[in-house]
Amino acid sequence: MMSAPPVHRLFTLLLAAYGAQRWWPARSAFAMMAGAVLVQNTAWTGAALAVRRLEEAGALHPAALRALEETWLWELIRPAGYFRVKAKRLRALAEFLQGHGDDPERLFQQELGALRRALLGVHGIGQETADSILCYGAAQPIFVVDAYTRRLFHRLGWSSPQASYETLQSMVHHAMPPDAGPAAAEEFAEFHALIVRHAKRHCRARPLCIGCPVTFCPMHRP
Ligand code: SF4
Repeated sequence: MMSAPPVHRLFTLLLAAYGAQRWWPARSAFAMMAGAVLVQNTAWTGAALAVRRLEEAGALHPAALRALEETWLWELIRPAGYFRVKAKRLRALAEFLQGHGDDPERLFQQELGALRRALLGVHGIGQETADSILCYGAAQPIFVVDAYTRRLFHRLGWSSPQASYETLQSMVHHAMPPDAGPAAAEEFAEFHALIVRHAKRHCRARPLCIGCPVTFCPMHRP
């Protein structure tokens, strides 16, 4: 039988190498949620600029966003790319929040499973975006899987490149049980952020394996 992958050791090594990342940089829960939609398929710099432009236009509130003229919304979020698609998704999010008093904090009071299902029911919110909102907006103990996670876990020999979202997420949840309360929520938030940092610094498309902090990786070179 294959031994369990040293998931927590990976977390410890990344934390020691890069320090706490303290995500998500957002001024409000709605800013975080909007950012999670805007960052889909793009770099954070473009999404962050789009969030700032929404804020400067006074549109970083569900009601204000619903009231925006469509072409003006396109213009504001253009730096995030796919602006027509994302405008539609932001509107869907704002409409969803209307059913919760335009108050994300009220929404976040729901039980985790029900909340996740509700988010997944919103147009344009898939598993990664829903879990980002749950992890960084609602401070729930849930691990966010992204393309960087998939690439890193594959290179470590833990999974196939086609492994499902659920497989990768449960690998982490199994090694770092989510029932440890706020401490677990913080660890999951840090772990995902650290994987992103590592994917940019070392584990790139063309990996820089020399001096990589993940010393147990089969590709590691001192
Ligand atoms: S040794 Fe190379 S492949 Fe392995 S985690 Fe580090 S950068 Fe990625």
